[in-house]
Amino acid sequence: MKLNSTPVERIDFCGYPVFVKRDDMLHPEFSGNKARKFRFFLDNDFPYVRRLISFGSPQSNALYSLSALAKMKGWQFDYYVDHIADQVLKSTQGNFVGACINGANVINLSQVADRRERSCSAYIDDLVSKDDDSVLVIPEGGRCEYAQYGISQLGEEILIWMRAQQLNELWVFLPSGTGTTALYLASFFKKKGHSVHVMTCAAVGGSDYLKQQFSQLVSNTCFHPNVIEVPKKFHFGQLYRPFYEMWKRLNDTGIEFDLLYDPLGWIVLESYLLQNDLLQHKCQKKPSRPILYIHQGGLLGNASMLPRYQRKFG
Ligand SMILES: *Cc1c(COP(=O)(O)O)cnc(C)c1O
Repeated sequence: MKLNSTPVERIDFCGYPVFVKRDDMLHPEFSGNKARKFRFFLDNDFPYVRRLISFGSPQSNALYSLSALAKMKGWQFDYYVDHIADQVLKSTQGNFVGACINGANVINLSQVADRRERSCSAYIDDLVSKDDDSVLVIPEGGRCEYAQYGISQLGEEILIWMRAQQLNELWVFLPSGTGTTALYLASFFKKKGHSVHVMTCAAVGGSDYLKQQFSQLVSNTCFHPNVIEVPKKFHFGQLYRPFYEMWKRLNDTGIEFDLLYDPLGWIVLESYLLQNDLLQHKCQKKPSRPILYIHQGGLLGNASMLPRYQRKFG
């Protein structure tokens, strides 16, 4: 099972050379940034745990990776969702179906009689007693300090690659959901004093919301990544023609990207390159500012997203 040391490839993006860290090449069951975020739980023993609990979207990559984790560990896995769209229930591929095949027990709170308008996290708080050692609760999207363990390994790999390339300075870009990956990556480099600038953008909520999320995990803003503004408002999980067009352009690089986060990530990176006049230096052998884009996986989700895009935009 490949869980670290992914390769870095160089692609041409609008003529500008961008390096891509291929974390999508981690093991498909436990892939992308979820493999990094949940690595702590894989590497450690939890002798009393019998049941894993989490919550979030029924289409999320976290649901699938956690189902694989629970299967490997022999844990029961209960995953709470607000509701499940018919489209998701009918799908034959993707994260939801894959997780169910792995044995995930997905609990739809909109059909639970005793919900009393509680959110998933409030419902779980009331359900699980704090001192029950047999239950492990992982917050939505793996947004917790345990994520630091695996993300530091990603940071180490980037440093090793930089040394091999004889780079003294690097700009790392990755789109954020909860922002956990970008945050712990930025704080890893800053605490060690490396000239690696982590930049991100908010795919969920807006920039201010993302910064609040950072502060809840790490209060010192010096350790936070740089948040690049999104040029237009997009709602997470919705289909946009510019996303689909960007995704198709990216396919020409020979690397498949995810359809939820990456189209926005590359739209924002393109606007960043334009704003910083970096595209004038294109076609150079050595980029004037070396940029490393983190491919965070999520390709299983494309199996359900791509048919929706094709139906909508042809
Ligand atoms: C989960 C995920 C993200 C968001 O990661 P955060 O750590 O929550 O910011 C980005 N891209 C892909 C492909 C993901 O699966």
